[in-house]
Amino acid sequence: MPASYDEQGRIDQRQRFDVALQRYSQENLAENTKPFKEQDAWEEHQMGKAALKYGSENKKQISNNYQFVFEDQIDFIDPSVIDGDKFDHQEMVIEKKTSKSVLEILQDERKTLPIYLYRDELLRAVENHQVLVIVGETGSGKTTQVPQYLHEAGYTKRGKVGCTQPRRVAAMSVAARVSQEMGVKIGREVGYSIRFEDNTSEKTVVEYMTDGMLLRNIISQPNLSSYSVIMVDEAHERTLSTDILLGLLKDLIKYRPDPKVLISSATLDAEKLSNYFDLAPIFKIPGRRYPVEVHYTTVPESEYIDAAIVTVLQIHVTQAPGDILVFLTGQEEIETTKEILNHRIRGLGGKIAELIICPLYANLPIELQTKIFEPTPEGARKVVLATNIAETSLTIDGIKYVVDPGFVKVKSYNPSTEVESLLVSPISKALANQRAGRSGRTGPGKCFRLYTLDSYQMEMDDNTVPEIQRTNLANVVLILKSLGIDDLVNFDFIDPPAAESLIKALELLFALGALNKFGELTKVGRRMAEFPLDPMLSKMIIASDKYRCSDEIITIAAMLSVGNSIFYRPKEKQVHADNARMNFHSGNVGDHIALLRVYNSWRECNYSKQWCYDNYVQVRSMKRARDIRDQLERLLKRVEIEIASNVNDLNAINKAITSGFFPHSARLQKDGSYLTIKHPQTARIHPSSGLAQVLPRPRWVIYHELVLTTKGYMRQVTELKPELHIITS
Ligand code: ADP
Ligand code: MG
Repeated sequence: MPASYDEQGRIDQRQRFDVALQRYSQENLAENTKPFKEQDAWEEHQMGKAALKYGSENKKQISNNYQFVFEDQIDFIDPSVIDGDKFDHQEMVIEKKTSKSVLEILQDERKTLPIYLYRDELLRAVENHQVLVIVGETGSGKTTQVPQYLHEAGYTKRGKVGCTQPRRVAAMSVAARVSQEMGVKIGREVGYSIRFEDNTSEKTVVEYMTDGMLLRNIISQPNLSSYSVIMVDEAHERTLSTDILLGLLKDLIKYRPDPKVLISSATLDAEKLSNYFDLAPIFKIPGRRYPVEVHYTTVPESEYIDAAIVTVLQIHVTQAPGDILVFLTGQEEIETTKEILNHRIRGLGGKIAELIICPLYANLPIELQTKIFEPTPEGARKVVLATNIAETSLTIDGIKYVVDPGFVKVKSYNPSTEVESLLVSPISKALANQRAGRSGRTGPGKCFRLYTLDSYQMEMDDNTVPEIQRTNLANVVLILKSLGIDDLVNFDFIDPPAAESLIKALELLFALGALNKFGELTKVGRRMAEFPLDPMLSKMIIASDKYRCSDEIITIAAMLSVGNSIFYRPKEKQVHADNARMNFHSGNVGDHIALLRVYNSWRECNYSKQWCYDNYVQVRSMKRARDIRDQLERLLKRVEIEIASNVNDLNAINKAITSGFFPHSARLQKDGSYLTIKHPQTARIHPSSGLAQVLPRPRWVIYHELVLTTKGYMRQVTELKPELHIITS
């Protein structure tokens, strides 16, 4: 078939994917494709062998148990199932929709999930063991079903079932789904809590939350007495908070024998988790897994967005029905890709079938997320442009094709310069296979890798480095110290952080006054730990008490916490947008005060939407800032700081900011660039800063963050006037 669909006259891109076509079942890939050992699990399942691997129990006897369970369900695993002929649970559900209520349909759907076959076994295993590692293919039902099973089995009579997620979106989306399945309103029996947003109530029995949130809960409730079960979900992601939680839970169960601890993971690489918890049993849920064909490009693609777009269109015109999932690195990239794709489609007019484009990233409003889960109408095809959220946290049904450019945005931290940056980096083999696996859930799938087989084999690491080894630890050290864990070097980390990173964290906390010279938590440190913020922001807030400007400082902290999404610049109105933005900078007051002015003007206009439109400010970001600010205000009470306003004394406000951010100061160089002070690093003021164009340049500045791209850029910059900080006696 000639590739005539591309208005730019591109040739048939299929050529890019020839030769290297591989099937996962082939042996040469088997070693490095751990998730695809699940293919083996599937086979084991068929033989009734797989499910439970108790450390010392008699395996044979257990496999007999499963034989029994398995025979019950023999229809489901008729070999034709693998071909996708007889068994199609999607269709089954749709058929029933005509005569059943939504709740009944959802209950039927629950029974089609792979985990359903193992419900009773799982509950028995939970009953018999305090710690259990649960492993199962993405989509098998771990996240949505296990907490419900535990609730149904009565565990919630003694306390809540808490289930952690590495990502905010996943916590919200899963809670929404489970509340539907249970037929309750979200926030009541089923709720979620994420930083700055608590959507739970007295009634809540199943609580989804971010791992960071549970970590913070431990500060106020060290033995987590309100929970009867803690499920650490998506443990394979090995986020910083998950790793610390695992360490704390391991300690907790030494003196609290009742709470159940479940650790669930999407990869079969669970031995490590099991070993860490003194050989906790591993419960395997054999998934439905279909073969996935993997296609590599024959030559490296330098423009992966372009290659991804071409590939999507190619799939759309040449491949059988089935939705497409494209992995991109972030919101901006996703929005750009969406625009280009839309443009291309318009160029093709009515020549191709409808292509529904669904973006999916952490900041996407919840209303738009639901679109992803809606079934694709007949004749159309859906393409989901997602960040790594879609690797395991969220299961999107109906995906048959995966397009994988092979990149991910990761936080990296260099302890010798103390610079933390978000870098687009190549993914690991384990992630590549996790991604490919998304296409083989409901039938045989295809994965188009926009890189060569050679780069997969030679250049990609086997596994992703755990976050604890590539991040700034100041926050976590402060939390651990406030939990009374002083001996950090001997803390039982699943993978220890670099000693250098620990030392840097201790140094910073000492400099901020959170630790004394013996490394003990000070009163300032204890108050700082109350705030779910980076230590420098918390310190700025504590310091605002002294300068009588807590009202302004919490506003600034809230605005900084929203990130860089306050202003927007529509392409056709960039000049207007820039002018509107610069209005807040009059007097070259610096970005911090400008953010304060934005918020205060909005507040004076009664939090009006129209005001936001007029000023090219994003309504959603402002609402979030307001929520965060409200919470910070409540936390001020907790640390007994009075709300005091001092809006006209900019010096006082800047002094409070400097009390937290002095480690982020930089000095002007002769060539107009800046040199950061602690670890000399050349940096410029980011073009989005109000001070970017100001001349003469301030001699000293403090910045909120340093972004490293090709050059170092300081974001959110304010002039530092050293004379203000001279202590006179
Ligand atoms: P796992 O945790 O094992 O990856 P989940 O429990 O997250 O599996 O998902 C099981 C199934 O529940 C998915 O395949 C999907 O069909 C359904 N599901 C999960 N979340 C949602 C949602 N937000 N909307 C609609 N369906 C969902
Ligand atoms: Mg899950």
